[in-house]
Amino acid sequence: MKRVVIIGGGIAGLSAAWSLREHCPGAPFEIVLLERNDRFGGNIRTERSDGFLIEGGPDCFLSEKPWAMELSRRLGLADKFLPTNDKNRKTFVLSGGSLHVLPEGVILMIPTKILPLATSSLISWPGKARMAMELFIPKKKDSKDESLGDFVRRRLGKEALDKIAEPLVAGVHAGDPETMSVRASFPKFVQLEEESGSLIRGMVRKMASMHKAKKSAPSPTGEQKQRVTMFMTLKDGLSELIDTLSARLSKMENTVLRKGAPVSSLEKKDGRYTVRLEGGEAIDADAVIVAAPAWAASNLLKGVDGALSEKLLTIPYVSTATVSIAFKKKDVKHPLNGFGFVVPKVEKRRIMAATWTSVKFAHRAPDDSVLIRCFVGGSKNAELVGLDDAAMVRMVREELGDIMGIKAEPLLARVFRFKSSMPQYTIGHEERIGWIDERVASINGLYLTGSAYHGIGISDSIRYSESVAKKILHQFQK
Ligand SMILES: Cc1cc2nc3c(=O)[nH]c(=O)nc-3n(C[C@H](O)[C@H](O)[C@H](O)COP(=O)(O)OP(=O)(O)OC[C@H]3O[C@@H](n4cnc5c(N)ncnc54)[C@H](O)[C@@H]3O)c2cc1C
Repeated sequence: MKRVVIIGGGIAGLSAAWSLREHCPGAPFEIVLLERNDRFGGNIRTERSDGFLIEGGPDCFLSEKPWAMELSRRLGLADKFLPTNDKNRKTFVLSGGSLHVLPEGVILMIPTKILPLATSSLISWPGKARMAMELFIPKKKDSKDESLGDFVRRRLGKEALDKIAEPLVAGVHAGDPETMSVRASFPKFVQLEEESGSLIRGMVRKMASMHKAKKSAPSPTGEQKQRVTMFMTLKDGLSELIDTLSARLSKMENTVLRKGAPVSSLEKKDGRYTVRLEGGEAIDADAVIVAAPAWAASNLLKGVDGALSEKLLTIPYVSTATVSIAFKKKDVKHPLNGFGFVVPKVEKRRIMAATWTSVKFAHRAPDDSVLIRCFVGGSKNAELVGLDDAAMVRMVREELGDIMGIKAEPLLARVFRFKSSMPQYTIGHEERIGWIDERVASINGLYLTGSAYHGIGISDSIRYSESVAKKILHQFQK
């Protein structure tokens, strides 16, 4: 019987295994998934404590990218979907030491409404005028990649970069706009410029056509009536997706999921692979999916293809930490009238962003309490991830004290570290990945998946794993 070994039990590895079984339920091949840690999920990690639901890593999927919701639906989790609490949809930006509302209608840094931008206290008048000029700036003539920083400065001006784009990007990618590739990280911006000549014009048109399509769509029925917001999660946390996947897969014939099984190397001989575990155990395979981070894949692939191994190391990663901290509601004077705030680099603070978790989603904290999650590290302050728990909590409390005026003793504090876990799509990422894709395609039976390659979020990782599973089924049918 043919065997597929999957290395890594994060969402990418698990969804690849699921997709292999889903597309070919009774197919006679074995799947062995090997996970280094003593739990599945990788970055995805939900914990419960004293009535709080705490997401260590990711806390939601972007509904615009449908693959995570579609997979959840197919796993029977549709009744667990939880939209955001949209009566408090605002995001705040720290500027000059105080929190200012990100003007309504600013979508991922592109303004689409005049009045909220005109009346915003966040952007100066020259900054607003410069943003409005975007409508008249000719589009770029060549298709060469550029940094997100250069792109935003060119189109919307420096203030839009410093006060909107940079902190939003740091909050999501933990990255530095001066090194991030705009083509790889925000392909939609490039497309808007190419198609409409202006981001503002393109975004306004896009929204109008979405609005029109929504109006002319048939009235939703049954499950479709469910409210879908830009960010969606699962009521019991994202680990439910991991637990459901691993439980369902474990019950399937010829499917073995192993935790505490770190792989140390891969060898290829006579068209077959030998997957070696750290303890010395060896498992033969006809196909191998490496669903570990690119730097780990690089290490494993040294003996299979030295050039590929070296190229994988050129995908940089940054480290981050999240600190979830809870207070009694009565101890927090701030109205918490939004989803949280982001912190521009120019503010020189020690946190990148904070989510007011219990406002963003229901079921995250007891009624009399609030849960706040702060992001630490990233490209701005990587060294802070190395602080011990007590020092990190102390630092976060000082930051929340300065920014939000919270001085009370917390009810609980939990620290989660993610060392080298956020891939950075730096300038030239597309060419790098093009090279890697071609190289991998030339090695029969070898596949890579995960957030390092074709999209950093959960949904993109699932989509990519599903496409890899299809390739393997094709290989086996040959
Ligand atoms: C703090 C944080 C917040 C985030 N928030 C969001 C969000 O809200 N929404 C979103 O869509 N995305 C978010 N992301 C990104 C998201 O976490 C990733 O897209 C996704 O989890 C990547 O999954 P993966 O399986 O590719 O990698 P991982 O989750 O890193 O899984 C890889 C697995 O491989 C295992 N492994 C490594 N080496 C070996 C080996 N030698 N042998 C065996 N196993 C090995 C690891 O132990 C790990 O379990 C966030 C990321 C972080 C760090």
